[in-house]
Amino acid sequence: MLRSRYIQCYRAFSRTYATATSPHALVFLEHRQGVIDSSSLSALTAAEQLGGKVTALVVGESEHVPGVVEQAKKLKGLTSVLHSTSPQYTEPVPEVLSPLLEKLLSESSPFTHVVSATSSAAKSLLPRVAARLDVPAVSDIISLEHNAENNSTTFTRPIYAGNAIATVRASSSVPIKFFTVRSTAFSAALVQDGAEAEVQAVDPVDVPDSPTQHVKTTIAKSDRPDLGVASRVVSGGRALKNADTFASTLYPLADVLGAAVGASRAAVDAGYADNSLQVGQTGKVVAPELYMALGISGAIQHLAGMKDSKLIVAVNKDPDAPIFQVADVGLVADLFEVVPQLIEKLKQ
Ligand SMILES: Cc1cc2nc3c(=O)[nH]c(=O)nc-3n(C[C@H](O)[C@H](O)[C@H](O)COP(=O)(O)OP(=O)(O)OC[C@H]3O[C@@H](n4cnc5c(N)ncnc54)[C@H](O)[C@@H]3O)c2cc1C
Repeated sequence: MLRSRYIQCYRAFSRTYATATSPHALVFLEHRQGVIDSSSLSALTAAEQLGGKVTALVVGESEHVPGVVEQAKKLKGLTSVLHSTSPQYTEPVPEVLSPLLEKLLSESSPFTHVVSATSSAAKSLLPRVAARLDVPAVSDIISLEHNAENNSTTFTRPIYAGNAIATVRASSSVPIKFFTVRSTAFSAALVQDGAEAEVQAVDPVDVPDSPTQHVKTTIAKSDRPDLGVASRVVSGGRALKNADTFASTLYPLADVLGAAVGASRAAVDAGYADNSLQVGQTGKVVAPELYMALGISGAIQHLAGMKDSKLIVAVNKDPDAPIFQVADVGLVADLFEVVPQLIEKLKQ
């Protein structure tokens, strides 16, 4: 019954979009509390660079989906917006969402590419669906080029913690090309005056026996800018000694700069800072205008998360610390002496 209802709705959609030979990307648009994630806006920009149609997929519960669809349909470069509403979609649980995505990509699907930000949910969702369709998925791309003549797409992506860039080509034999996008490599799609993407509802696919249930989401509340999108970041490492000195040293500097606070993994593991603040290979990847690394040695795993920052300022007691190899401005000094002086100067 559900299946037939779904197919009915999907066929209506398929008629609107006759099978296309030019690229047609389906972008999984993530949102939180009714606001589209900025990393998904970067994924849209990447999808637009394929040079064809771009459809966004918005899922969620009835409280937020209509508002997100309203925001989405005004975005530059978006051809259409599909939305599916269900209490099951309140949180993007991959096991619950993958049947919906799989259905959208089955039968006479118009989609040639499936795109999302490199988010926690998408890292599980896209490979899961790609595997079911027996096609490869390319993760964390930083550039792309689509060749319309031979229907191949070439991507670049960082490997070995960003020490090498791999070039990967999905050829025409891959019918649907899946990729996730490193958000720092693409600007966020903007609202465009007069833009009005077509909107279409898609029936949810019920998954009564999901092996994974969402239990709760705990979000660390902060009045500071979001680390992922802040234009200035002040980060501290193991040298900050403990949670109290981390807070009393870094937070006043972050406040005076209007900056987000980040941390090395050593600082997070030692309990100085919440793990949502970790920058690096296994934390967040940031590329702000200003990145200040205070008492951070500059291990490659940390550099992987911040070395694309526009201006890197490092303070370290050790003149041989690797962080100085990527720093634009380096100061060999004790951070506990330098930071209070810096705050005073900035206040003036
Ligand atoms: C698989 C894997 C994934 C990882 N992922 C990440 C990741 O995502 N992010 C990450 O950060 N790390 C990651 N790491 C850990 C990484 O290898 C380093 O261990 C970590 O980054 C070190 O943190 P740190 O620079 O704060 O500490 P340390 O390496 O101990 O450096 C502390 C620095 O502070 C300086 N210092 C000490 N006192 C002062 C002072 N008073 N004033 C100024 N400078 C001072 C020291 O000279 C030293 O350079 C990962 C490791 C592995 C194996």
